[in-house]
Amino acid sequence: MSDKSNLSVQALARKNVRELTPYQSARRLGGNGDVWLNANEYPLAPQFELTAQTFNRYPECQPKLVVERYAAYAGLDASQVIVSRGADEGIELLIRAFCEPGKDAILYCPPTYGMYSVSAETIGVEGRTVEANEDWSLNLPAIEAALDGVKLVYICSPNNPTGNLINPDDLRAVLEFTRGKAVVAIDEAYIEFCPQASVVGWLQEYPHLAVLRTLSKAFALAGLRCGFTLANSELIELLMKVIAPYPLATPVADIAAQALSDQGLAVMRERVAEISDTRAWLIEQLNQCDCVEQVFTSETNYVLARYTASSQVFKTLWDQGIILRDQNKQPGLSGCLRITVGTRAECQRVIDALRPLPGAGQTTVTTNNEFAPSKEPM
Ligand code: PMP
Repeated sequence: MSDKSNLSVQALARKNVRELTPYQSARRLGGNGDVWLNANEYPLAPQFELTAQTFNRYPECQPKLVVERYAAYAGLDASQVIVSRGADEGIELLIRAFCEPGKDAILYCPPTYGMYSVSAETIGVEGRTVEANEDWSLNLPAIEAALDGVKLVYICSPNNPTGNLINPDDLRAVLEFTRGKAVVAIDEAYIEFCPQASVVGWLQEYPHLAVLRTLSKAFALAGLRCGFTLANSELIELLMKVIAPYPLATPVADIAAQALSDQGLAVMRERVAEISDTRAWLIEQLNQCDCVEQVFTSETNYVLARYTASSQVFKTLWDQGIILRDQNKQPGLSGCLRITVGTRAECQRVIDALRPLPGAGQTTVTTNNEFAPSKEPM
């Protein structure tokens, strides 16, 4: 193909797509590691056998067993659940159903998950930001003041990449001042690690609340691509209008139903207990490393920490095949790297690699709400 024809295809593309920086997923970033701790996956592969064989037929748009089992697990009615290709598709369905391109906006509070902005940009919807406070609580007055034209507010709790829960009183405050104005989507991708904090029980009170869930984390099925949006049936029906005709492949529905059986749920809860133990160990060990300045508490399967020289730490571990996630570019997170809690042996590899690295003083454990950003030079 000539240069000229390549150029003309560029010129044909939508302006916002030409200008879009795609989501830098862990897989796109690559690396040659043998210890993958950069995508908040579960470290071991669960075993499943396919039972469905009817691959000549299209799948159900909303596989009944999956929806019913998820509804039972979440304590909801099946009419309050929509299943999609990961929670990422749920994020996008909400924008497609509620935001007029070129007119409406979404609002989110960095530092947080990157797909809210990428989905909005792709669709041509403004992504408005209100940075979190220094202690990562929501800046409520600033959110309320920024709502003009906002149709959708995304709040991630527990938040990725910081690991903290958002104060439930603050979530209620947002739900109150958005009534009749905007949908509030609470992203609970990691909620299985702190199930008592779910806001699913609030759905009766708030017709404009949506909750995002996934099988990618505690259910150990990131490769399956299966997620859920939970809301009242009126909101779910709107999402049903914009979802693809066959969003879930037959094998996906088959395995998702197995993962949501009583036995699947019991295994998931065992996994959560084991990851939580390993996380406690990892935090204790990180606190004894000279190169670690601050370790933040976590309600999830990852741990964020601030390092005295994070780029050097990242590269040293990368060269040893240990792949972490660099969070330096997020507001307020300079010097921070995120480590997924892997197996105990993988976490030991991390600690063995960190131990010899020099530091600039004592390390401390900090709870998120006492967090004061470091003023140390990097
Ligand atoms: N929300 C958050 C906060 C996440 O961290 C992720 C996964 N990285 C997702 C949503 C998307 O999950 P899924 O794999 O179900 O698309």
